[in-house]
Amino acid sequence: MIIVMSPASSQEDLAGVEEKIKANGLTFHLSKGEDRTIVGVIGDKKKIANLEMNMMPGVEKTVRITEKYKLVSREFHPADTVVDVDGVKIGGEHLTVMAGPCAVESEDQLKEAARCVREGGAQFLRGGAFKPRTSPYDFQGLAEKGLKMLREAADENGLKVVTEIVDKDDMELIGTYADVYQVGARNMQNFQLLKALGKAKKPVMLKRGLSSTISEWLNAAEYIAAGGNENIILCERGIRTYETFTRNTLDLSAVAAVKELSHLPIIVDPSHGTGRWQMVRPMARAAIAAGADGLIIEVHPHPEVALSDGNQSLTPKNFNRLMEEVKQIGALMGKAL
Ligand code: PEP
Ligand code: MN
Repeated sequence: MIIVMSPASSQEDLAGVEEKIKANGLTFHLSKGEDRTIVGVIGDKKKIANLEMNMMPGVEKTVRITEKYKLVSREFHPADTVVDVDGVKIGGEHLTVMAGPCAVESEDQLKEAARCVREGGAQFLRGGAFKPRTSPYDFQGLAEKGLKMLREAADENGLKVVTEIVDKDDMELIGTYADVYQVGARNMQNFQLLKALGKAKKPVMLKRGLSSTISEWLNAAEYIAAGGNENIILCERGIRTYETFTRNTLDLSAVAAVKELSHLPIIVDPSHGTGRWQMVRPMARAAIAAGADGLIIEVHPHPEVALSDGNQSLTPKNFNRLMEEVKQIGALMGKAL
């Protein structure tokens, strides 16, 4: 349930509302906007159904929420959330770009990639140290050695690190090196992992599952928020359809849908979304024009020898072109790097 407080309501009115919610064994969630205060009520459905709040002083109206996700919903929190990663912001008027190789392969590869990422003007270095590969015989990542390389290359270039977590038992280890945990498409509904990340002290970037609906995706985000971690960034990375020309079908309508349904920032991954480097720049431009808060792009100094996802990785030169283009489109959308 959402309780909309009247603009003329007082602090005591709000305190009264809070007291009644808590006295009924329910959770009180406050969202103070510029001109409206909204209270979210979470907990047992039956208790909420019996909760009578309309007559309380200061209450303008109450709204019942039908969707199961609440903390991540726009109704609970009308203003855009801006996730702050030690000074680098994601959401609102900020345009954020994360870029780097699919996998951390070697020190030379990563250093070259990190330089190119910085020169292009992106803020985050990406790269998998734990790779969830479809085949067990494919390169699985360098694990902690890769994490160390990521941190070093990022620090040398003033970048933040985003990297994938595939096992909840790695949370502490990855948290030592990374600034943002990436939950990959294959783990979007790994509920034990989501619950663990709900207790994490660092933000989480949650990719959309391979065949997930927007509602399932937002419910997955709700798991993290319900654990206490509301620093969540959504990432649209394409979904499985009957089309085979592209690796996935990049669902840019999800950007507009998420903006309507949720206050969380959303970024787009046109690399996995298309699987073809030729399509990454056009889809990156379209993503920003659709209202995305940023991008995650695979860049490799030598895509032809990449150990994974070379087909969809941009060369440094093409990455620079992409950055120039998205800066211009971002400006039109009121967003700056
Ligand atoms: C990746 O970012 O390299 C990755 C594995 O992405 P996804 O989970 O979207 O497939
Ligand atoms: Mn990849």
